Amino acid sequence: MSESKAISLDAFRKKKIEREADQPIYGILVWLYCPKCKSIEYTEIIASGGRAHRCGTQVEEVEVEVDLRAEYTITAMNLEKIDQILKKNKKSRLMKIVSKSLDKAMIALKNSEEIYLQRLQGMKSQLLLPYQGTPEELKSKLNIKETNKLGLAISEFRYQPEDRFK
Ligand SMILES: [Zn+2]
Repeated sequence: MSESKAISLDAFRKKKIEREADQPIYGILVWLYCPKCKSIEYTEIIASGGRAHRCGTQVEEVEVEVDLRAEYTITAMNLEKIDQILKKNKKSRLMKIVSKSLDKAMIALKNSEEIYLQRLQGMKSQLLLPYQGTPEELKSKLNIKETNKLGLAISEFRYQPEDRFK
């Protein structure tokens, strides 16, 4: 094999990897609503025959096709932000009680984001990698519906799920 051919093959592989890194990975997530408990939760497990809540009531279900990679990217960005906030809180211990309860809330938030990340990853055997780029560059890919007061991004899937049951 000539050297130039080897190089172009390498370039081809590199292009292929780049292209794949740029592709959405679709999957279906489900919102579940229990009309008795009025509770809403998501699941990655599809149950075509329907299912009951822990209280025994049949839940209402809305399946949503999402780009798992976008969800993954947003969640990874949120986790980074949460860590920054926790670090900042550690530095300013002036209002101890306030920051302590804030810390608790942030840690709970962190846990829920970590669980979401794990569940997204659990849906695919291939490794989910976040999209590369700044939030500005990724705007069209991520479909962020809102950024809350803490600076955390809310994806279209996770934005006001109760509206899906109206
Ligand atoms: Zn229930």
